[in-house]
Amino acid sequence: MKIRLTLMALSLMLIAGASAAAEVNVYSARKEALIKPLLTQFTETTGIKVNLVTGKADALLQRLQSEGANTPADLFITTDAGRLWRAREAGVLQAVQSDTLNDIVPVSYRDPEGYWYGLSLRARTLMYVTDKVDASELSDYESLADPKWKGRICIRSSSNIYNQSLVASMIAANGEEATEAWARGLVANLGKSPTGGDRDQIKAAAVGVCDVAVANTYYFGKMEKSSDSVQRESAAKMKVFWPNRSGRGTHVNVSGIGVTSAASHRDEAIRLIEFLLTDEAQSWYANVNYEYPVKEGVAWGETVTAWGVFKADQIDMAELGRNNAAAVRLMDRAGWR
Ligand code: FE
Repeated sequence: MKIRLTLMALSLMLIAGASAAAEVNVYSARKEALIKPLLTQFTETTGIKVNLVTGKADALLQRLQSEGANTPADLFITTDAGRLWRAREAGVLQAVQSDTLNDIVPVSYRDPEGYWYGLSLRARTLMYVTDKVDASELSDYESLADPKWKGRICIRSSSNIYNQSLVASMIAANGEEATEAWARGLVANLGKSPTGGDRDQIKAAAVGVCDVAVANTYYFGKMEKSSDSVQRESAAKMKVFWPNRSGRGTHVNVSGIGVTSAASHRDEAIRLIEFLLTDEAQSWYANVNYEYPVKEGVAWGETVTAWGVFKADQIDMAELGRNNAAAVRLMDRAGWR
């Protein structure tokens, strides 16, 4: 009896030892439903166990900072290049040099030194009420400051990272002075105070509060496919417009992933990133949230395909992080609340 117990304890220890090596810990600011099925598939394919912790982006970044070298996390997943840049600046990510990853992820959708890689792409675009606006009246983000749009624009608060990154891209294109003048013009044209999320701007436009909403594309997709009739009917009144098509292109952003500086399962972490960039994973990961794959040649989902092809601004996304502080100050000066 005693020997059998000892043997059992020994084999349990061996199993524990083996699985301790083959595991990877992920902190994800994306909801569990948007990542979990892929992680399960990764485990089935590779035998590497994945432990997932989900939470809000800023809270997870804080947690990574306070845990420091003791963090169990090997990977950090979050949305927006501005946030990924912050994570790099905070010292919680490490550089990964991988020819495989560099070949797959276009240069503008990853950190130039490999601190993070884009996993999916979203566009921050214009959605207009088809009863009130003709597409020919729209052209670029810049023209949203034109007095003809007085009281007709809905956009959320400047405290939101999506707007900060949009403004950061405009600073890169037009300079700070011109972008501040633009922000003042935009604020003067708002149809309501910039409260609520992206979906609320689309809903406000649908009920006549404004004629054009600025929002991320996947929210529009979620509304089109929503089980809630109010959301579906709101989206049905609107159309997606791709601004700046004759210039730099529409502002795009990524959700992305980086290996933590304290990662104790670095190899497994890199294998997971590579897995998330396979054609199959790219297609699923983008489609489940009505986003676009970062990998070229991977088919788009039906919903996003219906909005048409567009030209994406090819700005180096690290620039969005670099210009973030200037963008925040500028929006504040312009009275964008
Ligand atoms: Fe979002």
